[in-house]
Amino acid sequence: MKKADEFNFDIVIAGGGIVGASMACLLAQTGLRLALVDQTPFNAEQLAFQQQPLKFDPRVSALTSASMALFSDLGIWQDIARTRTCSYQNMEVWDADGTGSIQFSATEIGQPALGAIVENSVILHALYKRIAQQDSLRLLAPFTIAALDRIQIDGEQHIQLLSSEGSKLVAKLVIAADGGNSRVRELANFSCKEWNYDHQALVTTVRTERPHQHIALQRFMTTGPLAFLPLLPAADAEDRHYCSIVWSSVPEKTAHLMALPDEQFRKELGAAIEQRLGAIEWSDVRFAFPLTQRHATSYANAGIVLVGDAAHTIHPLAGQGVNLGLLDVRALAAELLHGLAAGRSLTDPILLQRYQRQRRGHNLGMMWLMEGFKQLFAAEALPVRWLRNFGMKNINNLALVKKQLARRAMGLD
Ligand SMILES: Cc1cc2nc3c(=O)[nH]c(=O)nc-3n(C[C@H](O)[C@H](O)[C@H](O)COP(=O)(O)OP(=O)(O)OC[C@H]3O[C@@H](n4cnc5c(N)ncnc54)[C@H](O)[C@@H]3O)c2cc1C
Repeated sequence: MKKADEFNFDIVIAGGGIVGASMACLLAQTGLRLALVDQTPFNAEQLAFQQQPLKFDPRVSALTSASMALFSDLGIWQDIARTRTCSYQNMEVWDADGTGSIQFSATEIGQPALGAIVENSVILHALYKRIAQQDSLRLLAPFTIAALDRIQIDGEQHIQLLSSEGSKLVAKLVIAADGGNSRVRELANFSCKEWNYDHQALVTTVRTERPHQHIALQRFMTTGPLAFLPLLPAADAEDRHYCSIVWSSVPEKTAHLMALPDEQFRKELGAAIEQRLGAIEWSDVRFAFPLTQRHATSYANAGIVLVGDAAHTIHPLAGQGVNLGLLDVRALAAELLHGLAAGRSLTDPILLQRYQRQRRGHNLGMMWLMEGFKQLFAAEALPVRWLRNFGMKNINNLALVKKQLARRAMGLD
């Protein structure tokens, strides 16, 4: 941990979550003077405590092939895979209120897996180990961004960041990766569209009577979707009885589930997934997160650019949030490198607009899709229920449509 008094950088990345830390690792190869700042004093050693056998991080990500490829390019996928991941070859999605269901299978689309479930702390641990090896990258934490000013240095605009710890940084370009409640976005007056989903997500880890067999399960109820995501206690473990749970519900339902004694919660959870994996034998501590959908109307504004949840926050039902953020990282890094090679400045509006054009439409499309899913499954009217069951059955029989849906969700198209 280093104290920042006054530092000058080409780029400051604000926020060292998965998206910001990945951005930092990708740009570290450019030779630019970079800083990564976070309010939390992250470092690889602190994150390692999560990786004890049978103690899982309640926050996991279902990574797409595109995200795994980015981690491979950063040289950290081997490290992640060695630590703990669980690939899933099949996914079953069904409607609690009928007979409609869709099964996705990796073999149908000629891939070894549909994706991998990885604990967020495992990803961050690998990223921070990599960051520690980068000479051109300064990690400054804790640095809690509290104020932002645009200043002129030698006739060129720079961004000055002040932290609540009393430190100051100056950069030509600030990449805001400080999450859904981005302080940088707010301080720089980016406007946002925001919809409250009126949903909360309950997350925990469970042990089930029957093995998960590397299948991700998702059951849609009118109160919201429930996902069982397969976990392995170690890379080479035989034990296939652990799952990460993401149960999105209306707030009253989540409050009820959070207040239940463990035994009762396990019974309700088992019933909610229709006992597909038998009894729920054990459950860990439960956490609840409010869910909001947010989208910045523009991603770039005079020396400041948004990536990840700072630009778009999406319902976790399709497990796309971090994957979209990593696609932003890939696209922004490519534009910056391209621009530098062409002799352009880092803050050239043409570069930043190009990044925005590439990513905003794609992110918006995914957000509308998630909103549509949420509305569709919340509907109680009989014709809508009939139509969605009919639709699911038909999609399940349409190999080509299913293949396209799966490839899109995996970040392959
Ligand atoms: C229940 C749940 C399940 C999910 N499951 C999936 C999934 O399966 N797959 C998937 O792709 N996505 C999933 N998501 C979404 C995913 O977690 C987010 O999209 C992802 O974490 C966003 O990463 P980020 O780095 O942009 O932001 P964050 O992870 O929010 O990181 C932001 C960072 O900025 C720092 N920060 C914030 N404010 C300041 C400040 N003022 N000064 C300095 N630093 C600051 C924070 O400390 C943090 O480290 C899920 C989300 C939820 C809620």
